[in-house]
Amino acid sequence: MVNVVSNPALDPLSGLLDWRQLADKSLTGDALTHVEAISVLTAPDEVILDQLAAAYRVRRHYWGNRVRLHFLLNAQSGLCPEDCHYCSQSKISGADIEKYPLMAKEKIVAAAGRAHQLKAGTFCMAISGRSPSPKVFDGILDAVRTVKAQYPMRVCTTLGLLNENQAQQLKAAGVDRINHNLNTAETHHDDICTTHTFQDRLSTVKAVQAAGLTTCSGGIFGMGESDDDIVALACSLRELNVTSVPLNFLIPIPGTPFAERNELTPQRCLRILCLFRLMLPEQEIRIAGGREVHLRSLQPLGLYAANSIFVGDYLTTPGQAAQKDFEMIRDAGFVLEPIPESIQ
Ligand code: SF4
Repeated sequence: MVNVVSNPALDPLSGLLDWRQLADKSLTGDALTHVEAISVLTAPDEVILDQLAAAYRVRRHYWGNRVRLHFLLNAQSGLCPEDCHYCSQSKISGADIEKYPLMAKEKIVAAAGRAHQLKAGTFCMAISGRSPSPKVFDGILDAVRTVKAQYPMRVCTTLGLLNENQAQQLKAAGVDRINHNLNTAETHHDDICTTHTFQDRLSTVKAVQAAGLTTCSGGIFGMGESDDDIVALACSLRELNVTSVPLNFLIPIPGTPFAERNELTPQRCLRILCLFRLMLPEQEIRIAGGREVHLRSLQPLGLYAANSIFVGDYLTTPGQAAQKDFEMIRDAGFVLEPIPESIQ
């Protein structure tokens, strides 16, 4: 039984929160109370379809049945001096991954061509590291200019910690959006990383916004966080008014400190997706890393809350074949968002 300590509406049949009323509240732009948000996460598995129906009302209002595809390229891999415990590229990871410096521009542009072929509207270019060296930064600017000149796609970069001046240069080169995840609540951050702080991450998101760029920022779940931590993360992202919210479900990679973590069920992931849709109604909610591993056969249900997925691979782990994604989207009654002829 859900521990309801304030007085939100209850469904007479289940005695649980009335998820339809939560959807109404979300659609009016009001934030869920803490009790309501926690109740979404603690509801029993048997009401997951009711929760998804509520999340879907909100999703359909803002996004119809469209699904946005993003394509992720790890343009520089491994050898990172940071110690993010979930990451196979960190200095403390013994994971068996490919390590390479910034790819040649030709390879990056070829990957953008592949993204376009797979109908991705956004090409996401990530590099490992705390923040880019001047040489790497110049290489990224050059690659972005070429990709933007050749393909009608949004370009999003994930480059680690950035200041406002760097964000302005990226904007001038044609970058549409910058990703920098808050990852988890401030109260849990030090349990997952000690080489930079939650405030460092927050400062980067704010610097990007100050430069006039839209922000992509989300989290990772399954790292020992509490329900309160998850709600706090959703509140932080709502407060920051980020545009795009990638929700990752930890892939416990052998060789990383979190290799043995196994906390998630498909229903738990779906409840997290519902919570973020209800808390961030207008935002682009993306099921990011771990979709195949943790949602498994329930992947299509995730689309009733989220409106975006990655097509292709993740940073250091493979995704399912693009054809399977296309079939899933079609079979569940969703449609791919058309790629615009050009993106200004
Ligand atoms: S998440 Fe980024 S900053 Fe952290 S260890 Fe991995 S590559 Fe480095």
